[in-house]
Amino acid sequence: MTNDTWGQVREELIKRVGKNNYTTWIEPLRLSHLRNGVASFEVPTTFFGDWVSRNFADHIRGQLAVAGSPVERVEFTVGAAAERSAATKPAARPAAKAGRARVNGTDEVSGAQLEQRFTFDNFVVGKPNELAHAAARRVAEGGPVTFNPLFLYGGVGLGKTHLMHAIAHELKVSRPDLHVLYLSAEQFMYRFVQALRDRQIMDFKELFRSVDVLMVDDVQFIAGKDSTQEEFFHTFNALVDQNKQIVISADRAPGEIKDLEERIRSRLQCGLVVDLHPTDYELRLGILQSKLEHYSNQYRGLTLAPGVLEFLAHRITTNVRVLEGALMRLFAFASLVGREINLDLVQECLSDILRSSEKRLTIEEIQRKVAEHYNVRLSDMIGPKRLRTIARPRQVAMYLSKQMTSRSLPEIGRRFGGRDHTTIMHGIRKIEELMTGDGQLADDVQLLKRLLQS
Ligand code: ADP
Ligand code: MG
Repeated sequence: MTNDTWGQVREELIKRVGKNNYTTWIEPLRLSHLRNGVASFEVPTTFFGDWVSRNFADHIRGQLAVAGSPVERVEFTVGAAAERSAATKPAARPAAKAGRARVNGTDEVSGAQLEQRFTFDNFVVGKPNELAHAAARRVAEGGPVTFNPLFLYGGVGLGKTHLMHAIAHELKVSRPDLHVLYLSAEQFMYRFVQALRDRQIMDFKELFRSVDVLMVDDVQFIAGKDSTQEEFFHTFNALVDQNKQIVISADRAPGEIKDLEERIRSRLQCGLVVDLHPTDYELRLGILQSKLEHYSNQYRGLTLAPGVLEFLAHRITTNVRVLEGALMRLFAFASLVGREINLDLVQECLSDILRSSEKRLTIEEIQRKVAEHYNVRLSDMIGPKRLRTIARPRQVAMYLSKQMTSRSLPEIGRRFGGRDHTTIMHGIRKIEELMTGDGQLADDVQLLKRLLQS
């Protein structure tokens, strides 16, 4: 195949993978050779190669075949030339370029767009989130850095992103002199890769090291992505060394994020780690009431029957986003049909949400999560093995089945390979007993519960 053919193949790939993917991932590929059924490409980093291999290799092979150069395999090797020039070239870059990536005190240019309604004023505080809220408030004062990083974690829709945006909004007012940068871990990676591709890694480093407050959302995303983790780690250290504030969020505690480098994990744990707990009834009701004020202004003339908010707070327990969506839909629907919002309307309009929130956790799901957590086979959950490394997770699953479902002991026994209900009872007792003395086990059970609830 000539480079012309590769040119044609690339044209075709734009259509297949989309312009954005193409510019980010395909365009930077350098075809180094094509022989013995292997097409070999040069890539800037191992990570880059892994990503392309995982996501686009089939497209590339497909299009090569169409162009009359079928191959069995595509491989990616890190191009020494590419890497070296990525590292040294920026030293010689024109001065203007350095300024281009600069940001003047706001987030719009380089960070993610902030959601206007994610302010502290709009954040309802309750028992489950009071610590996280207090810590976020502290950071938003922009005073001396007392804990670094602030690590916020919790399940989906519990307010992590809301709190981070609130910090950014508040800092704009209290400390307009500070350069605050908020972005998701995914955007961090995307920019990093883009900088590699454009040979602007020095600009990238400079930009990130020049911020005063860095907030990275959903950091679990970079787990397993080696070069991004590496860069993140360096950025992180550089900022901590300069005593700049960092705020991180994730869907689980640092210790629970798999494939995260140990040194990153331990650095993340150095600051203040706070947990947003699942919402309780009072908090959900509070959130609904605060939203209600907003909607009553928007939809004047609509009335709300007593008991509706309580019903929703009671029934929709999964996440705040769903709760908000439910209320929004109710108002929109009621204004459309010109009816009062009462429990009948709720049933009519929200049947799908109510049904899905009714969906019960199954014993099978519990077994699967527990097996995954302890790295044992799902079949061992049901099987006869008595080894402690298997029996203990099995007992944890029994305990959680009793706690989190409404199944009776004999029913649980049946789902654990036809065990007798006394065996189940014994397993549950064992776990209860162990948890009082064994912090690790108690933590495991807590974590599993949270994972199963989300
Ligand atoms: P996460 O980032 O934890 O997944 P978000 O911050 O995106 O969750 O929150 C999901 C939605 O729920 C947002 O619309 C947010 O405004 C709302 N929300 C979550 N917690 C609260 C709260 N305590 N008070 C008011 N709104 C909240
Ligand atoms: Mg979020």
